[in-house]
Amino acid sequence: EHARVANFGAGPSALPVSVLEEASKGLLNFQGTGIGIAELSHRSKEFQAFVNNMESLIRTQLDVPPTHRILFTQGGGSMQFSAVVLNMLARHRLLHPERAAEDTVLDYVVTGSWSKKAVEEAQRMGGARVNVVVDSRTFSESGKAFDIIPPHDACKFSEDPALIYYCENETVDGVEFSHEDASPASFPFHLLGKNGGLVPLVADYSSSFMCRPIPHLADHAIIYAGAQKNIGPAGLTILIVREDCIVDVDAAAKLGASPVPLTMSYKTLADSGSLYNTPSVLPMYISGLVLERMQRHGGLKHYEETNKRKAEKVYAVLREGQEKGVFKRKVKEGSGSWMNVVFEVVGPDAEKAFLEGAERAGMMGLKGHRSVGGIRVSLYNAVTEPEVDQFVEYAKQFIAERS
Ligand code: PMP
Repeated sequence: EHARVANFGAGPSALPVSVLEEASKGLLNFQGTGIGIAELSHRSKEFQAFVNNMESLIRTQLDVPPTHRILFTQGGGSMQFSAVVLNMLARHRLLHPERAAEDTVLDYVVTGSWSKKAVEEAQRMGGARVNVVVDSRTFSESGKAFDIIPPHDACKFSEDPALIYYCENETVDGVEFSHEDASPASFPFHLLGKNGGLVPLVADYSSSFMCRPIPHLADHAIIYAGAQKNIGPAGLTILIVREDCIVDVDAAAKLGASPVPLTMSYKTLADSGSLYNTPSVLPMYISGLVLERMQRHGGLKHYEETNKRKAEKVYAVLREGQEKGVFKRKVKEGSGSWMNVVFEVVGPDAEKAFLEGAERAGMMGLKGHRSVGGIRVSLYNAVTEPEVDQFVEYAKQFIAERS
């Protein structure tokens, strides 16, 4: 009856039907309060309890240690491009009050469109020198595509940077760091922190948050993610921040750091329990329901296993299509994302035919990002294995017709 399609969109993306049904009830009456969730005070004890529970659902499932706070905010991943710079420069200023801006360095690992955007924002912000540790395009055969995770020894980290930035999963380009430490496509964690102390490691996990455990989570200064891929609707941003990165930004400003807007200061968020100003109540509610459902289904271990199988199935049919000259992989073997699989359909008008056929079969959201074209299959948590099987069947049929 409900004419829902299989949604392979890159974000906002699919949400579980059971959560949407439950949320529609909460929209009318939240937990028997007689008030709908979008009408309820964020200071009510019911909502505060809901937020506390959301935090503990993330803490338990991701195994976040007590050294790290979990904070909720708005503004999306893009706002964190600026916020991480401001907060980490404030921290650096407090550690090194005498250091000049030209001697302060921000290290960026660039592996795709989103980390490139983060670099551009850091350059806009000023207050430090921006060092591109590596740009993976120099390792691409074409010299211009983000299609590979660069080798470890390519990363030239600075001596004492204010932050070291990477994007775990590049949503547009479909490249992702491997989670096997021994893999050449893993993040080179072993190259960090040579001087001991706390590494200022910042990770954008927007499109891979809560799809599997986070390797070396405790060694990160900041991990952030917009909710709109694996967790919920757009409008909620989740932060995991190590205690030493929650600093008095006003004290840092007195020493010459840039002033930090209160709503972007991690200390404001931490001191107020993420309720300094009105939060995005409805997106938080839906995200909380998703997190509860995840826990009921066995937590991240279950999702890791399912997501691995989903990705393997799609990469397998891609390989088949590539051998028959119908598809062309865009990302080097070993660097491919679990969440966003990108490829091209070979031949004139072939991509259009592929997309139209998919749409007729009830599969949407497969068009690649406008900046790179091609096909992108997003396989976030709420995309079910039967939906992936349906896609694979369709792709096999397409290969058979074209080869
Ligand atoms: N980083 C990554 C990896 C993303 O995928 C996105 C959004 N697609 C962003 C940052 C920007 O997030 P937002 O649109 O929430 O600002």
